[in-house]
Amino acid sequence: MDFLPIFLDLREQPCLVVGGGEVAARKSALLLRAGARVTVLAPQLGAALAAQGAAGRVAHRAGSFRDEDLEGYALVIAATSDQAVNRAVAAAARARRMPVNVVDQPALCSFILPSIIERAPITVAVSSGGASPVLARLLRARLESLVPAGYGRLAALAREFRDRVKARFAPAERRRFWERALQGPIAELVLAGRDADARAALEAALADTRLAFSGGEVSLVGAGPGDPDLLTFRALRLMQQADVVVYDRLVSQPILDLVRLEAERIYAGKERAKHALPQEDINQLLVRLAKEGKRVVRLKGGDPFIFGRGGEEIDTLAAEGIPFQVVPGITAAAGCASYAGIPLTHRDYAQSVVFVTGHLQDGSLDLNWRALAQPRQTIVFYMGLLGIDQLCAQLAAHGLPAGTPAALVQAGTTPQQRVLTGTLRTLPGIVQAGGVHAPTLIIIGEVVRLRERLKWFESTA
Ligand code: SAH
Repeated sequence: MDFLPIFLDLREQPCLVVGGGEVAARKSALLLRAGARVTVLAPQLGAALAAQGAAGRVAHRAGSFRDEDLEGYALVIAATSDQAVNRAVAAAARARRMPVNVVDQPALCSFILPSIIERAPITVAVSSGGASPVLARLLRARLESLVPAGYGRLAALAREFRDRVKARFAPAERRRFWERALQGPIAELVLAGRDADARAALEAALADTRLAFSGGEVSLVGAGPGDPDLLTFRALRLMQQADVVVYDRLVSQPILDLVRLEAERIYAGKERAKHALPQEDINQLLVRLAKEGKRVVRLKGGDPFIFGRGGEEIDTLAAEGIPFQVVPGITAAAGCASYAGIPLTHRDYAQSVVFVTGHLQDGSLDLNWRALAQPRQTIVFYMGLLGIDQLCAQLAAHGLPAGTPAALVQAGTTPQQRVLTGTLRTLPGIVQAGGVHAPTLIIIGEVVRLRERLKWFESTA
């Protein structure tokens, strides 16, 4: 971090702007917005500053800069077009340990002015540390579109209730209360301009003696195949509000890094044949944590309802009367196919796609091979690595040409992604020779041919 972001209270503080031009006028206006008392030092004022002066908003001291001009100010901004003057201001300010900003000269600054998104009292500040103000501004524009215009009013409403909520709830409950109030129906009322209704709803929530906000809950969240960019907004929001996160081996580290720092993290397995926790224990663990009043996120690779045993986990929760929700995720088939440049369906090559588990039960694969070995169909095998010999042989035995193209996608969508292609005949050999390991997805069908043409899809990894 090159600069520490802080927010300064400049209300009624005397601040000096050196320079009389357009840039100085903008800096002066910014200081005025923060409530500062602004003095402008310049031989004469340009039109904008002259107007600010005439309106009585800034004081003008006519003259050229001398060191002693800094006496009595809380901070100074140098915005002249004369570099010698700017340097002199910077040196004099530093000698006095007075915060100084020199416009467009980060090397001379002890503080820099970030790009800001203002939804008073909310302020978001973005800085590139002087490296690229344009990039900071582009980012600011994106954030601008993300932060609803009503956020300022929402924050103001929260401020109104802050002391009462603090008196009413213990810290953990209080955080939960606010998180629900600030993004649930109450927030929606504010954003829709219905502040009075929102206020009434907050009053009602505060008066609710059942402590409606104290119960635990479980969210079964699909974390996608590995690339954190493929998380849904909802997944991210829940991860950042969780008290506990129970996660699988498939959940990548960069995704875990997005979980709220204070949240407890529990590893629940499962690696083939050495399950960290048997499924039954996981189900009970979720129930116990929720009953302790915690907000539990059960984070699963891909989508919870696709070979994720999500159904079993919510079964237990439902039986125990624990509130839960399921958040879909991008399943490995969708993620790996996109990142490997293999469309799963294609008007000319495949009109259907099937997702199949290749997990061996007692060493064998009991699947409807005839239904799988259909022309113009893409087959995606999850967990198929161990059974690859069997599945290739069975598909061939049931009529799929041995030359049917096939691909292995290992660690898809992550920087370690590896794609190996061959045919039904060559795939087992490729796995043996290639040191292929889990997690790997197997895609079989004519669409794999398109990869050659669509290779540019693949990330540079
Ligand atoms: N619920 C998950 C699947 C869990 S089964 C989902 O929807 O994606 C585990 C199998 O998924 C692995 O054996 C592998 O075949 C596949 N898989 C998951 N993530 C993968 C990845 N990043 N790359 C390749 N295969 C993956």
